Amino acid sequence: MTKSNALEDSKTFTEKQLRSILDNTVDGMIVIDSGGIMLSYNRACEKLFGYSAQDALGQNVKMLMPHNYKVNHDGYISNYLHSNEPKIIGIGREVSGQRKDGTIFPMWLSIGEVTEEGKRYFVGIVRDITVQKNLEEQQQKYVRALEKSNRELDDFVYLISHDLKEPVRGIYSYSQFMREDYQDILDGEGLDKLESLMKMSRRMNDLIDSLLYFSRINKTELSYGETDIAATVNGVMEMLETYLKDNRAKIVIESDLPTVTCDQVRVGEIFRNLIVNGIKYNNKPEKEIHIGVCSHEAAPQNITFYVKDNGIGIPDKHYDSVFKMFKRLHGRDAYGGGTGAGLAIVKQIVVQHGGRIWIDSKVGEGATFYFTLCSDAG
Ligand code: ADP
Repeated sequence: MTKSNALEDSKTFTEKQLRSILDNTVDGMIVIDSGGIMLSYNRACEKLFGYSAQDALGQNVKMLMPHNYKVNHDGYISNYLHSNEPKIIGIGREVSGQRKDGTIFPMWLSIGEVTEEGKRYFVGIVRDITVQKNLEEQQQKYVRALEKSNRELDDFVYLISHDLKEPVRGIYSYSQFMREDYQDILDGEGLDKLESLMKMSRRMNDLIDSLLYFSRINKTELSYGETDIAATVNGVMEMLETYLKDNRAKIVIESDLPTVTCDQVRVGEIFRNLIVNGIKYNNKPEKEIHIGVCSHEAAPQNITFYVKDNGIGIPDKHYDSVFKMFKRLHGRDAYGGGTGAGLAIVKQIVVQHGGRIWIDSKVGEGATFYFTLCSDAG
């Protein structure tokens, strides 16, 4: 249909056709005059409120409202007519409606204003949002339950780790006593077994410490402040001075590092972990870590920090799993050993800040860890 044909058709549109459309719209539509009297009330409204058009037309629209709305409604209209300051007109918001049988339900109401021959009318479109509200409530209930069970799980992990520390320390100490007191009696095999026992209890102690630390991070709030990232990274480098020297490693800061709002201590921990990993998982004679900021397509709205190394790299199938607690890609003692908790802690700190962390890597050439410290919305 051409535009001129459509215009022609619209002129011949009869009142009957308009009424039929009005009666077949899914949403309820009510027209009131400036005194609140209903002049139009479509079929959807009959279903919604339980009053027939005959019951409703000529009555004040307050009959469709619960008591607390009813008492204020006249005031709303007259305030608006005098001040012209809209509270709901042209905006729309959630209100409550009351059916003929007295039940109250949530509805979305949007109101428009029409002036015809000097008279002002209001057109309200109403939609029953009971199902949506129930779903929202259900969802909130699930979120609350999930938060509660997460908190309980955190408390549980904390308590268990705490309680486990004592016996593990005991096993280690007793193995030590045995070695001291019985080394003349035990043969070589016995001593080896005792050595393994001590090694295993030391490792268990390290794992429990990691778990305790991880759950402590979850339990404590971030301490936000304006943080000079350049100074933070410098502090970390100073702390690692001997480690860097011993491992023939150098750190290159590739761009001006900004000042951002974050928890300085924890963000320092992110850098420390990523730097140490970049040196640890690295078999090049000259180890290099490059640190900087960039604008990354994965988070275009945010400052993205990166820590890039020239180490062994990470196969892409492990990009997600390395952030899991206790996940290591190598044998227990390979590359200096470790508990596999470092990156889980790093991710936890990033997520606490509302940010994201991801990896890009070429096996044999190195890995780059990118992270942001606030949500994608900024
Ligand atoms: P840990 O170093 O104690 O094993 P992490 O959580 O820090 O624990 O790291 C998990 C695993 O991810 C490491 O065991 C290693 O296999 C791999 N990994 C971490 N950082 C790097 C890196 N920069 N280059 C290569 N592999 C890495």
